[in-house]
This record gives sequence, C-alpha cells and structure tokens, in this order.
Amino acid sequence: MNLHDAALQLGLALQPDQLAAFERYRLELIEWNRRFNLTSVDDPAAIETAHFLDSLSALLALPRIDGRPLEEWLKRPLAGVDVGAGAGFPGLPLKIAWPALRLTLVEATGKKCRFLQHAVDVLGLQDVTVVNARAEDFGQGSGRERFDLALARAVASLPTLLEYTLPLLRLGGWLVAQKGRYPGEEISAAQEALRTLGGSLHDVVAVTVPGLDAERHLVIVAKAAPTPAAYPRRAGIPKKHPLG
Ligand code: SAM
Repeated sequence: MNLHDAALQLGLALQPDQLAAFERYRLELIEWNRRFNLTSVDDPAAIETAHFLDSLSALLALPRIDGRPLEEWLKRPLAGVDVGAGAGFPGLPLKIAWPALRLTLVEATGKKCRFLQHAVDVLGLQDVTVVNARAEDFGQGSGRERFDLALARAVASLPTLLEYTLPLLRLGGWLVAQKGRYPGEEISAAQEALRTLGGSLHDVVAVTVPGLDAERHLVIVAKAAPTPAAYPRRAGIPKKHPLG
C-alpha cells in the first residue's frame, strides 16, 4: 500500500506536496543515516510504516480529547512540542500533515538536532524550532508552560515522561504519549507522578497502524493543575529516580 492510501486509513488525505515532503524526508534520513546512526529503521518501506505512519497515528488521539473531528484540529495553530524527537518522530510527520502546527522539537543529542534542522530547512517547513536541550532544562527555562500539546515516542517510561512533559504544558494542555502494548504497569506506576505534577489521565486509545504488525496505544494526559516549581528536577534525576 502506498503512503497516500495508508494515511487515508488513518483518516488523513495527504496532498501531493505533502507526499513529496515525506519522500524528501525519507531520502534525507537514509542519506544521513549512512554517516550518523540516527535510526535503526532505514529500509525505505519500514521508514514509511514504523516512522511516518506510526507518527501520524498520534493524530488519532485528538478527536478523543474533545470530540472535534480531526479535520478541525488540523486547522488550529496550536503550539506543540515533541520531547526526545530523535530523527523527528513523531513531530516532523505531524508537521507535514498539520501545517498550522507551531512545532518545537526538543532533543538532547547535538547530531540529531543538526539533522532535524537540516530536515526542516530542506522541507521548507515554517514555524518549527529545534531546541538542543534536555527536556528537564527546557522545562525549568524558556519552555515552561508554553505548549498546548506535548508528544513523545520511545523516550521514557510514563513516570519519567510526565516529569519531562507536564512542566512544558500550559494549564488545559494535553500530552499524547505513544506506547506499544497496553501500558497498564506504567500507568499504575505513574499515579504519584500524575498527582505531583498536575496531570490527569484522560484516555488510553488502541490504534492500528497500517502495515505495522504491532500493538500500539496512545496515552492521553490532561494538564489539570499547575506543576510545582520544583519540577522537573535536575537533568538526569527524573530517569534515575522516577516519582512514585
Ligand atoms: N522519538 C524518536 C522516535 O520515536 O524515533 C526518538 C526515540 S529515541 C529512542 C529517544 C530520544 O530521546 C533520543 O534521541 C534521546 O537523545 C532523546 N532523549 C532522551 N532523554 C531526553 C531528555 N531528557 N531530553 C531531551 N531528549 C531526550
């Protein structure tokens, strides 16, 4: 199945310019991956399913937040942050599909940030900022309470991820965390972090990614109360000593 038809299964009608952007992104990823180890997935077909479509599947969380259809969400110029973006997932596919999104990509590794900035430049994406920082430092600095939507895939277990992301959200903002199998244990372990950081579990949505034979879930968390100033703790601490 081609990307256009697969994306349609997710409810997204990608236009020719968007499909061309995905193709260019794929070529750049393969090219840079020869020199720097950006991703272990670099087979062209696997990039499409495991990276592009899996990233796009995060959009399925949006209608579950407030019942608005996806096409309405995609018109909103929200401020989104992808924490631990790596080679750009899920943030850059979302930006291609959602041009109005004002996107910030936070990534701790410099060489990945160089790739991210290069990809943003060659794809001609507007309103994308690449921040080479630890999420903890960004959350105690210029990123604090600035975002409507936080996204993350394959970055940390939920208690740690909540400490990375909730400080970045304004009150009333949302976290969409992409997970594999139903993350029941992570959710149980995250109760203390939710209470402490001002989060409220809203929903866990099972999604099917076209062409991907893997269980996928989206964990949706609301920023329901302010995060105390002491959080996030110093860089490295949320991972070493998760709340709870
Ligand atoms: N999200 C991408 C994806 O799904 O392909 C990358 C996943 S990779 C396994 C995790 C990324 O998160 C790495 O690039 C790592 O440098 C970054 N990372 C981990 N902890 C971080 C932190 N505290 N702040 C910023 N980036 C972080």
